[in-house]
Amino acid sequence: MEASFKEKKLFTPGPLCCSRSVKEAMLVDVGSRDSYFVSCVKEIRPSTSWRLLSEAEYTAIPLQGSGTYCVEAVLQTTSPRQGAKVLVLANGAYGRRMGQMCAWAGLEVRLEEFPEDQRLDLAKVEALLRNESFTTVAVVHCETSTGIINPVEDVARLVASLQPGAAMVVDAMSSFGAVPLDISGSGIDYVVSSANKCLEGVPGFSFAICRTKHLLSCKGNCRVLSLDLVDQHSALERSGQFRFTPATHAMLAFRQALREYASSGGLEGRAKRYQENRSILRVGMKRLGFRELLKEEDAGYIITSFHFLQHERFDFPKLYSRLSDKGQVIYPGKVTNADCFRIGNIGHLFPDDVRTFLGHLEDVLKEMGLPVPLP
Ligand SMILES: *Cc1c(COP(=O)(O)O)cnc(C)c1O
Repeated sequence: MEASFKEKKLFTPGPLCCSRSVKEAMLVDVGSRDSYFVSCVKEIRPSTSWRLLSEAEYTAIPLQGSGTYCVEAVLQTTSPRQGAKVLVLANGAYGRRMGQMCAWAGLEVRLEEFPEDQRLDLAKVEALLRNESFTTVAVVHCETSTGIINPVEDVARLVASLQPGAAMVVDAMSSFGAVPLDISGSGIDYVVSSANKCLEGVPGFSFAICRTKHLLSCKGNCRVLSLDLVDQHSALERSGQFRFTPATHAMLAFRQALREYASSGGLEGRAKRYQENRSILRVGMKRLGFRELLKEEDAGYIITSFHFLQHERFDFPKLYSRLSDKGQVIYPGKVTNADCFRIGNIGHLFPDDVRTFLGHLEDVLKEMGLPVPLP
C-alpha cells in the first residue's frame, strides 16, 4: 500500500464504501468452474431479486462490468435487429446516457428530455405513448445526477396499457434494494442495478432482473456477443457458469453483502438507515446555509444536490480537496443549469459518519474564511 494512502468515507454516487466483512470475503482465489463458486452463483441469482419477485416470473442475470454495461446489454437485448425503436425518458445524465447507448448501437431512438429538477411529467409521457409506437421504453428510477425519484411504476402502467408489446426497462441502479419498487405489479419487464450501490457489494459486476418470458423472446437480437443477456442466461441455466471470466472475488463479496443485507432488515432496514443519514444531513446542511436543488416531494433519500454557497470565498474545488484531505469524499454536481454539488447517503455509511462529515465541513468552511452559518 502506498504510504500516503488513507481510507476515506465516500459520500458519492459510487463507488461506495463496503463493510470490512464484505471486503474480507474476497480473500480467496477460486476457479470459475469450482463447485464452491458455482454454488455461490446459485445463492446469488435468486436472492438478488430478494423475494421482491416471484422466481417463476423473473430471473436475475449477473453480467461482468459496471452498471452501464448491463443497461447497454438490456437495451441491445430487447431491440430486434429490424424495426427497433426505443423511447428514452430522460431528466438527467443517466437518462441521456441511455439515449447515447442507442445512438452508438445504431438503434432508432427518441430521446425525450424533461427538466432536470422535476420528476417526469406523466401527461407528456402518456401523449408520447399515444402518438408513436416503440419496442422498448427506458427510464431511470433514481436519477442519481440530482437525486430525483421518478414515478417509474406509473410510467410502466401507462406502457402496459398503451403499448403492451414494448419492453419496459428501468435503470434502478442507485435505488434497487433501498427504495420500494413494485416490479411485477406495475408491469416492469427489466430492472438493472449493480453490486456496489444499495446492496453494498464491491464493484465489478452488475445484474439485470428480467421477466423470463420476455427475455426468451429476445433471442438473436443482441448485436454484441459479450452483452447478449439471452446467451448469458442460457449459459448460467445450463451449467451454472459464466460464458467469460466472471468477477469471482466480487461475487464472493456480493454473497456476503446479500447475507448482511438480509440480516440487517432487507429493504426496510436499508431504507431506514439511508433516510436517517439523509435527515441528519439535511438539518446540518441547512444550518450551515446550504440550499437544496430539489423540492422535497421530488427528492429521494439516495443522494442530495446542494447549490454552491453564494459567497465570494466559496470555491468548490478547494472545498472538495480540503474535505478529501480530512477523509471525506463528496461529488461535483451533474446538472447543466445550476452550480451544485452532491452528497450521497448510500453505501456502508451510518448516521455517525454523517455527523462526522458535517463537523469536517464546518471546519473547512471556516478555514476558507466563510462566515458559518452564512447569514
Ligand atoms: C451508478 C449509476 C449507473 C451506472 O454507472 P456505472 O459507473 O457504470 O456503474 C447508471 N445509472 C444510474 C442511475 C446510476 O446511479
